Amino acid sequence: MEVRRTVPVTLEVDSQDAALLEDTIDEFLWAAQYVTDHAFHGEYVTTSKTTLHDETYNDVRETTDLHSNHVQSARNKAAQACTGVVERWKQGKKASKPHFTSPHLVYESRTATFHDEYVSLATINGRIEADYVLPENREGKPHQKYLFNDDYDITSAELHRQHHNWQLHICCTTDVEIDTPSQATTENGTVLGVDLGVNNLAVTSTGTFWTGDEFDHWRQEYEKQRGDLQACGTRWAHENIQSVGRKETGRFTQTLHRISNELVEEARETGCTGIAFENLTGIRDRTGASWGHKWAFNRLYEYVEYKAEAYGLTVKQVNPANTSRRCSECGFTHPDNRESTQFECLKCEYQNDADYNAAKNIGLRYLRQNQTGADGGAPVGVRLNSGTLNVNGDYSPAEASARTGVHAENPPL
Ligand SMILES: [Zn+2]
Repeated sequence: MEVRRTVPVTLEVDSQDAALLEDTIDEFLWAAQYVTDHAFHGEYVTTSKTTLHDETYNDVRETTDLHSNHVQSARNKAAQACTGVVERWKQGKKASKPHFTSPHLVYESRTATFHDEYVSLATINGRIEADYVLPENREGKPHQKYLFNDDYDITSAELHRQHHNWQLHICCTTDVEIDTPSQATTENGTVLGVDLGVNNLAVTSTGTFWTGDEFDHWRQEYEKQRGDLQACGTRWAHENIQSVGRKETGRFTQTLHRISNELVEEARETGCTGIAFENLTGIRDRTGASWGHKWAFNRLYEYVEYKAEAYGLTVKQVNPANTSRRCSECGFTHPDNRESTQFECLKCEYQNDADYNAAKNIGLRYLRQNQTGADGGAPVGVRLNSGTLNVNGDYSPAEASARTGVHAENPPL
């Protein structure tokens, strides 16, 4: 199995080279946008790299001074973003045409040469060289563990500019043996991570979504009825408001019972021994949820807890810190509060639904919180649609998945 690690390295860039890199980035972003604009025609989006290549390569080569490999990287970037949009549409969600604004540039072996102390980078006008700014003491740092480790190969890098600071996120990969994950999985069990939120009421680490639409629909419906009755202002209307409230609660409760049943079913079907939620304290501040949502989250948790107990499944809440800002793929925690529905890692380029990324993190958090105990029954993996993540976030395809039918196709990793 391939393991990828990304090492951020600051570069020393003089002003002349900086200007050249900036122009190169501008043309790269322009190219990615050009391909994306081309891919979108009405309700149709072209996602095939080959088609996009055939239809845009010459135009981009003629218009820009980009290295041919940068033209291809920009097209790949565009194809990936377009695929993400189409996937959201397939899930019945909204997504609009991607816009490339954050200043970055993709490098591969034909556009960059990585030396011990410096890197040589292709620009729109030849190559430049930039020294690495490395920490004095590299002991235990990712530089020593991955970048200067012969077991790892440098496969690609992404150049990022933040104001006048140039950073190269260098991707290092290695092959590791898989230590019979399916056996370990069966013996020690896996955990299902669940993210709760406003857009999606619940999303699991296996990639199942329960949208908040139904919940929102009922709430709006009842609020409208209540508003109409309040406008009447009579005693009769007042009594009816209370009865609408009771009906509302009943309807929500019914929906939440159904979702909790399906959640427990999901855990059982995928052979999980536990279900992990984020700690519900403070969830309103973190997710911008209403009191109604908070009420629903608490109910849902309670229902899942007692239903799961009947099947011997453990249900726990974990520390929610950074579960939505952390990349479930490389572990990098993004400093800003990302409110987008799509998670995009600045470090390793991992892209996926933001709630799904959070669900995986919640599962991983559960593993970390429980791995210290000598409890032999503590889960050792987070259950994905097919396969598991171990405590280090490494993916293992598990053969022993009980999952069949609709979810059997390729998982969102
Ligand atoms: Zn990442």
